[in-house]
Amino acid sequence: MKTIIVTGGAGFIGSALVRHLVRNTANRVVNIDRLTYAGNLESLRSIAGSSRHHFEQQDIRDRAAMATIFEKYRPDAIMHLAAESHVDRSIDNSAEFMTTNIMGTHTLLEVARQYWQKLSGERRSAFRFHHISTDEVYGDLGDTPGGFQETTPYAPSSPYAASKAGSDHLVRAWHRTYGLPVVLTNCSNNYGPCHFPEKLIPLTILNALEGKLLPVYGQGNQIRDWLFVEDHARALMQVVEKGRVGETYNIGGNNEKRNIEVVHGICDILEDIAPIRPAGVERFRELITHVNDRPGHDTRYAIDARKIRRELGWTPQETFESGLLKTVQWYIANGQWCQSAQSGKYNRERLGLIEEH
Ligand code: NAD
Repeated sequence: MKTIIVTGGAGFIGSALVRHLVRNTANRVVNIDRLTYAGNLESLRSIAGSSRHHFEQQDIRDRAAMATIFEKYRPDAIMHLAAESHVDRSIDNSAEFMTTNIMGTHTLLEVARQYWQKLSGERRSAFRFHHISTDEVYGDLGDTPGGFQETTPYAPSSPYAASKAGSDHLVRAWHRTYGLPVVLTNCSNNYGPCHFPEKLIPLTILNALEGKLLPVYGQGNQIRDWLFVEDHARALMQVVEKGRVGETYNIGGNNEKRNIEVVHGICDILEDIAPIRPAGVERFRELITHVNDRPGHDTRYAIDARKIRRELGWTPQETFESGLLKTVQWYIANGQWCQSAQSGKYNRERLGLIEEH
């Protein structure tokens, strides 16, 4: 049994990874999450009774708290996902993105380095710092054929992407300068259960079910590569266990879709399986409304995932069609999760600010 620290394990991808680790491995998981608006312990309800999951509500920017957790649990690896992750929020107010994504990563690198330097033998050589990042660091692919490769130069467009790019550079520098055994992954857009309803797919599903408008930036022609979140969790495990030290692996679903196609796909699934039709709505597609495009909006991202396939044998299991159907079904079946996420109630409850009668 190994001990793995997961940061951001109450978030969308982090919770999928924690669930995967607890259900499919014998490892012990230490989940560090500050529980911002995006962290939701409801996403971990299915593994709530596990003695191999330890939750620590802490801020990754708190160096003393991080050092205490490293000493207490003596991890074999850290998988670092905690971040501010929403591009629109980064455009409105970028400060938290800089302190969490850049300074928080710096804090973890320093704490991990000091811990790792005191290890010896097999434990020292087997330790891993796995940094989880995004394809947005590569910027806009536009009409360039093919996808982003691990060698593609960085050209981030948004404050969010720039902060993630900064954190990626720090992680590589800690490997080169101090020898810290790192691996990095840069992944395309994820979708699936427990995705906070401010992002395109969950927002569209929930708005449609409530008969609200479905906002689409511009004409919806922006192209993204989509990966089912559980495929991402499997890829992360392959990389932390078998990835070569110092290497970066791009992860993608080979599912390039225009945003408007994604929204149409959701509407079409809902035509078949929505449990109720909102009053006055004849076809879900009629709810689509085009809104002003996001400033600096990249037109196309696509991932070339041949390296992780070639070296580690990972391929996605879901097609976009099967994954999208599962996702819509999950949101229909989990109204309670959606309500708690939208109201932020789960955090207020946890902090003792709400009394349930
Ligand atoms: P998310 O916003 O759903 O979750 C982030 C989690 O981090 C939340 O639980 C939040 O409470 C926690 N957190 C934020 N600031 C913290 C702090 N200072 N200390 C401790 N915890 C803190 O994000 P996500 O979509 O799950 O993304 C996870 C990681 O994967 C991020 O690093 C993101 O850049 C990367 N990523 C995301 C996508 C995607 O499509 N969502 C794609 C590629 C890479």
